[in-house]
Amino acid sequence: MIEIVLATRNAHKVAEVQRIVDSICSDITVLDLSAWPDAPEVVEDAPTFAGNALLKARALAAHTGKPTMADDSGICVDALNGMPGIFSARWSGTHGNDAQNLQLLLDQMSDVPDSRRGAQFTCAVALATPDGDERVVEGVVDGEIVRAPRGLDGFGYDPIFQPYGFDRTTAELSAQEKDAISHRGQALHAFVPVVLDLLAPVQGCGDNCQCQAAR
Ligand code: IMP
Repeated sequence: MIEIVLATRNAHKVAEVQRIVDSICSDITVLDLSAWPDAPEVVEDAPTFAGNALLKARALAAHTGKPTMADDSGICVDALNGMPGIFSARWSGTHGNDAQNLQLLLDQMSDVPDSRRGAQFTCAVALATPDGDERVVEGVVDGEIVRAPRGLDGFGYDPIFQPYGFDRTTAELSAQEKDAISHRGQALHAFVPVVLDLLAPVQGCGDNCQCQAAR
């Protein structure tokens, strides 16, 4: 078994990451931070998703002494020149207030015509080891901002983001449907082979690993 720590206290994110990783490779266990109550809160002041993911993975690998993964994600809206981007979680000023963030974005988009409502969800996933090895991968899903929230599943901006090729928002998709196309799903599909290449020889997942197909 390969163990990696996930650098977040967001239970929703732990569940989503574990669910997707499990579907790709059953030999990777994602540990949450409950064993490290004093883990530092990392200031995410890098200018990119990848930079912020690396900041968190590096700091928590140093604290836990274990290989650590971290993600940073957000929504980039074409008509807003790529914003909210790295500011997605605190777009309305209050960190993590999904309802306010979503409403502000909808208000800002109220005069934008249907032809210019394109947007992307982006997710960067970083891995850092206590020895200083670092990797980062990204996933992107393209779609558009709808005019009113729809759907009850998901979180954040899901009720107003409709992926291209769908007539439902990501809050109207099942978890499995969202995982199959989402920015996080795509990033984690790229991430698992990176983990296996870097850690399988060290942590003992060898020739009998069920996940050879992922490499
Ligand atoms: P962070 O990656 O935890 O910093 O959060 C980024 C923010 O982007 C979240 O608070 C959400 O507002 C938004 N976001 C990231 N991924 C998703 C998603 O899959 N659905 C909806 N909103 C998301």
